[in-house]
Amino acid sequence: GEKTPLTLIGLGPMGRGMVAKFLEHGHPVTVWNRTASRADELVAKGAVRAETAAAAVGANRLVLLSLTDYAAMYEILDGTPLAGRVVVNLSSDTPEETVRAAAWLAERGAELITGGVMVPAPLIGTESAYVFYSGPREVLEPYEPTLSVIGRPEYVGAEHSLAQLFYQAQLDAFLTGLAGILHAFALVGTAGVPARNFVRYLADNVDSLGLYLDETVRHLDEGNHPGDEANVLMMGATARHVVGASEAGGIDAELPRAVQSLYDRAIAAGHGRESWTSLIEVIRKR
Ligand code: NDP
Repeated sequence: GEKTPLTLIGLGPMGRGMVAKFLEHGHPVTVWNRTASRADELVAKGAVRAETAAAAVGANRLVLLSLTDYAAMYEILDGTPLAGRVVVNLSSDTPEETVRAAAWLAERGAELITGGVMVPAPLIGTESAYVFYSGPREVLEPYEPTLSVIGRPEYVGAEHSLAQLFYQAQLDAFLTGLAGILHAFALVGTAGVPARNFVRYLADNVDSLGLYLDETVRHLDEGNHPGDEANVLMMGATARHVVGASEAGGIDAELPRAVQSLYDRAIAAGHGRESWTSLIEVIRKR
């Protein structure tokens, strides 16, 4: 059948990757980018270049945005007729910003669907690609088959803030985890150990993190943190040793210090004999 036509504004690595996939799947795509030359290759592949952002928005009901942040959306769309448009904003920003944007678009007669793309540009449209979406279900639904081209749609709720909240939560774990990995390499590096000599141990460690998820989810959802071998007192002592080793090695210790602080405060709050998962109480600051 006829493939849904769409407009995509913002041709960074992500936007370019998405347009390429939509074209491969036979969707007519209109593009606009502040730096016009970034559209050249896509136009050669069949995309239609709009001369202005307003013309791009005017071309199709479905308008995807792939911009650095939500501020860029206001800069591009302010003053542009938007009535009847479904704007799917796949840019990153704080959940609060997405809520503000929904109101701004509603005032102009447009609907907002917020999105968070969970893969880097080269993986767009592959098996591992998925995208968190939030906003009105009935607005998203007709476009889900089209949006599936860039990745599996994962609808997470009607509140506009949710897609970016899920996205930020994923990146919270990801960025902190990556920083932890670098820190561990730096720590063995203080003894002159090259990363390649340590990586097989670290790989094992990283793989094992997933094994903690079931127990963690049980504790968090039951609000109960039965102490086991990995209680807060034991883990806290270890956290202190990591800080000590980092300081002795002369490397930055801010990251392990932040972790130690969680343990210290959990112990002070009386969680010492509970599972390490009781750190959630310190993090939540209830
Ligand atoms: P880039 O920052 O490379 O691209 C941003 C796009 O926004 C460019 O087309 C740029 O235009 C445009 N832009 C920025 N500010 C303005 C402005 N004030 N006015 C007009 N246009 C503007 O981002 P990416 O393609 O890497 O990412 C896009 C979004 O996707 C980001 O929010 C990012 O966080 C998110 N994301 C990125 C991933 C990645 O791996 N890169 C993975 C998952 C999500 P111009 O070309 O003229 O500069």
